[in-house]
This record gives sequence, structure tokens and C-alpha cells, in this order.
Amino acid sequence: MRKVVLATGNAGKLAEMRAILADRDLEVIPQGEFGITPPVEDGATFIANALIKARHAAAHTGLPAIADDSGLEVDALGGRPGLHSARYAGPTAAVRDNNELLLAELAGIPDGRRSARYRCAMVFVRAAADPLPVITEAAWEGRIGREPSGAGGFGFDPLFIVDGDSRTAAEMSAEEKNRVSHRGQALLALAARMRAAGW
Ligand code: IMP
Repeated sequence: MRKVVLATGNAGKLAEMRAILADRDLEVIPQGEFGITPPVEDGATFIANALIKARHAAAHTGLPAIADDSGLEVDALGGRPGLHSARYAGPTAAVRDNNELLLAELAGIPDGRRSARYRCAMVFVRAAADPLPVITEAAWEGRIGREPSGAGGFGFDPLFIVDGDSRTAAEMSAEEKNRVSHRGQALLALAARMRAAGW
């Protein structure tokens, strides 16, 4: 069975990736099993950061690698926090700090102007120096609520009200979120493109 490294320490992403690639002759191994420490994500785009992570994992293992990078784009904030979503409220910010800051920044903004979307770039490299990586991207549209609701998901999910639904992302089951989310959709597209490329 061919091995692929997953350049993330997130157990949820690993489970999602394994489920989507389940019918493939591929063993998906998290980078933590190789003792890899994450690289500095200083790219200017989600794609650039996903590539940094994938190439770093491939360089340290000699194996093909998959990585993603994602963030929340809020229209009323000119697209912030975007690339800096994880560190929105500061370098050591906890999820609660980020969510409180988001509500504070949007205080006074009416419901009709609270639109937002999650974005995700997903990348597959056959080797660290792969000159033609497989790259996909997806967005998940919604708006920012006025108070947190739901205990599922992670990050901004309790504040992210899904378009065409009255629930937040944190009120969905993991399976449902994975089916429709930015990451699930980007991953599904990546898996299809990998299959077409002989993986
Ligand atoms: P990454 O692991 O570098 O992609 O970090 C992305 C950051 O964007 C996370 O720390 C969250 O703040 C935010 N984010 C991305 N995807 C999601 C999601 O599905 N739910 C909630 N927050 C998300």
C-alpha cells in the first residue's frame, strides 16, 4: 500500500481524510508519527501556506504529502481574519479570545451585513520538489451570528451560521459538516484529481 503523509496535527482532519480516501490503496499517516514540527506559515495565500506545509512534510519523510490551509473571511472586516484566523486575537490566542474579538468587531453591524465564508486550499505533492502539485480550493458561505451556539466543530463554528440553514456549523454533526464544508469539498475535489492522476 502506498503511503501519504498528512501535514497536520489535527485528529479531525486525519479522520476526514481517511474516510474520503478509504477506497484507495493509500495509507494516510499523520506527520506527528514522524516527529515533524510544523513549519512557519508565512505565505501570502492559503495555497502558498498549504504548499509550505506539504513540501515540509514531504521533505522530512521522503513520502508524498497532503496539506490544507484555511481561514474565515468576513466581508464587513474587509476579508479579515483570513490567513490569520488562527492567530486573530494574538499569537497565543485561544478560540474563545478569537470568537469574542469577532463579536466585538461586528457589534453594531446589522444581520444583512454579517456575511462571511470559510476558505480552504488543499494540496498534494508527490515529493518535496514536485513542480506540479495538485491544488484544489473550496468556500463555505454563511454569516456571523450574535452569540455562540452549538458544541461541535471547532474554532469559529459556534458563530458561523450556514447559508440556507438556520444552524451554526457547531450545531451540525461531524459527518454533515464534512459533507458540505470548505475542507470537505476541497478534499473531495483533491481525491478526485489524485485519482485522475493515478493515485
Ligand atoms: P489552519 O489549521 O492553518 O488551516 O488554521 C485555520 C484557522 O481558520 C483555524 O484555526 C480557525 O480559526 C479557522 N478555521 C478554518 N476552518 C475552520 C472550520 O471549519 N471551523 C472553524 N474555524 C475554522
